Amino acid sequence: ITTYVDKRVLVLGLAKSGFNAAKLLKRLGALVTVSDVQPLAQNTEAKELQEAGFKVITGQQTPDLLDAGYDLVVKNPGIPYDVPVVKRALELKLPIISEMELASEVADAELVAVTGSNGKTTTTTMIQKMLAHDRETGKSVYAGNIGIPASQVAQQVTSVDTLVLEVSSFMLVGTTTFNPHIAVLTNIFSNHLDYHKTRANYVAAKMKITANQTASDYFVVNFDDPEWRELSTHSAAQVVPFSRQNVTQDGAYEANGTLYYQQEAIMPASEVKVPGDHNIENALAAIAVAKIKGVSTASIVSVLRAFGGVRHRTQFVLEADGRQYYNDSKATDMEATEMALKGFQAPVVLLAGGLDRGYTFEKMIPAFKEHVKAIVLFGETAKLLAETAKQAGIATIKMTENAETGVPVAYELSDPGDIILLSPANASWDQYPNFEVRGDKFIQAVEKLTGKQEEV
Ligand code: ADP
Repeated sequence: ITTYVDKRVLVLGLAKSGFNAAKLLKRLGALVTVSDVQPLAQNTEAKELQEAGFKVITGQQTPDLLDAGYDLVVKNPGIPYDVPVVKRALELKLPIISEMELASEVADAELVAVTGSNGKTTTTTMIQKMLAHDRETGKSVYAGNIGIPASQVAQQVTSVDTLVLEVSSFMLVGTTTFNPHIAVLTNIFSNHLDYHKTRANYVAAKMKITANQTASDYFVVNFDDPEWRELSTHSAAQVVPFSRQNVTQDGAYEANGTLYYQQEAIMPASEVKVPGDHNIENALAAIAVAKIKGVSTASIVSVLRAFGGVRHRTQFVLEADGRQYYNDSKATDMEATEMALKGFQAPVVLLAGGLDRGYTFEKMIPAFKEHVKAIVLFGETAKLLAETAKQAGIATIKMTENAETGVPVAYELSDPGDIILLSPANASWDQYPNFEVRGDKFIQAVEKLTGKQEEV
């Protein structure tokens, strides 16, 4: 175990994770300097640290920052490796770690880590809920990197606990010692390529989740793509497959509408509350982890029956007057909205639209045709989407101001048995600070219209 006592550490980039890393390092006895590009005047985090006695440097991060002499750099994952100051740190052969790796080194708990292009938050949350539901006396389960940085959680855990971490490829790039007992790879699609430059880099970053694992560890992998399956052969850990398409006897799989772990039938797929095939994949990954950890089938089933999804991700909001309302504000591209639509059997009244990024929506036509009975549009792309909706033969197309004003409009167009879904297929920044605010406003409007509360 590394000791941080009197180590000179430079924390590059504050945000939430850097802020918590700095505090954790100080508690561990390190001599901490923090650097952030935002000027002090507008930088509440920097101000707070300065008041707490940290050395704080704000403004442009130039290579001479490193002249003071450091033993270690903790870099925010958002800062690329090719900016001058990081290049200089590499030349000086300074170890550069991320906040997440720092946290995982310090945390005295068994680690479960989930990575993948999609489904990380959902799968991590399912796992955390299953372990928590079934925990033995005295053992606690913590989740990190979902809203709360890992280094903040790391300060609370003890060796009897389990820490379940959602881990992005950005966080994995810089790791050297990161070693989860159970690692999960949900899938690898080609997003985030702008940061990682090539697909090979992106895949390599994801595979770092298993790089330090040994035969006593587990690597839970989606086997529904030959590439991902092949990747698992490079892991030293015990590979536990999951699959929606094939019977993977030694792992979790779906067969004839039933979810299995090895020979045991766990539950009908139709009883998993979160909608869509992609969520069945997430459920299978979570089942595999829970089973490795010895969680009872009863606990697994009870969580999957009750869990309505992570906020803003095809999240079940409430049912009123025969209509089910779903908030999928996180769907900021066409693929996500397509995926959400495919998850529903019942007719959908869709609320969509948002920031115009210059793309058109023809790709949506088949999903519109199959699932959408009426559409309510807002934001910069409303007109473009209306064109596509017309081409798809959607009979009722309405324009509205925004996601919240669209709620009563959608209700008017719906019948009992229908789904009312916010899944915008666009980013929110033309009208909202972020997708969370857009989703929250939608939920408030649904609560106002129905007089009921969001189910949590
Ligand atoms: P992440 O944390 O990786 O961003 P989330 O669990 O927050 O993933 O889900 C975000 C969105 O990604 C969902 O709304 C859904 O559209 C899509 N998604 C979720 N799970 C999967 C999956 N297993 N495969 C493909 N897409 C998925």
